[in-house]
Amino acid sequence: MVSIYSQLLKKRYGNQLDSTADQYLAYTVGGARRMETLLRDILAYTQAANSAEDKSAAVDANEVLEKALANLQSAIAETGAQITCGQLPTLRLQEIHLLQLFQNLIGNAIKYRSKDAPLIEIAAKQEPEGWLISVRDNGIGIDPQYQEQIFGLFKRLHSIQDYSGTGVGLAICQKIVERYHGRIWVDSALGRGSTFFFTLPDSG
Ligand code: ADP
Repeated sequence: MVSIYSQLLKKRYGNQLDSTADQYLAYTVGGARRMETLLRDILAYTQAANSAEDKSAAVDANEVLEKALANLQSAIAETGAQITCGQLPTLRLQEIHLLQLFQNLIGNAIKYRSKDAPLIEIAAKQEPEGWLISVRDNGIGIDPQYQEQIFGLFKRLHSIQDYSGTGVGLAICQKIVERYHGRIWVDSALGRGSTFFFTLPDSG
């Protein structure tokens, strides 16, 4: 509502006001948009955290990755991101959860890119306690002292002017992985790219 009416106000009266009023209007439109994004992300977070424990089907992670990449298509095209992936397993979980994991992690790998085009590698390895899945990028990297706190709700390392975002994505990823008794962590150094790892149980 606020967003629609502030956009209408800008469209209809934007050129009849002085430059200060125009600037205030631009802030209002931007603020309303950010509020909408934040609400959408918080909703996704509560759903990841609270949705009832239901039976999960066997899900082909290769197909889910394809869907995630299709959803990220415009960001991939705009940045010239190259994404490579090994063979992924079949997992027993809700498809939407794996989709959110891939989308958040690959979306971040693109967003926090360095000046080079993003190179992103997704891999899976079978371990005694389940599958270990990794998403590696060649982006700006993360200072080791912040590598745990970035999974906290609303935790961000950058200003909204530098990178858009709400600080909810990784908190969603953590909630999802924890639902399946897995773990998520990052291995990174500033300027050296990041590799996010998460574990999920076997489909058996
Ligand atoms: P958002 O991207 O909305 O800020 P996230 O919860 O997805 O929120 O990420 C939290 C923070 O972790 C980001 O603000 C960013 O500072 C850092 N981060 C996440 N992914 C990466 C990445 N691939 N490379 C560098 N920094 C990252």
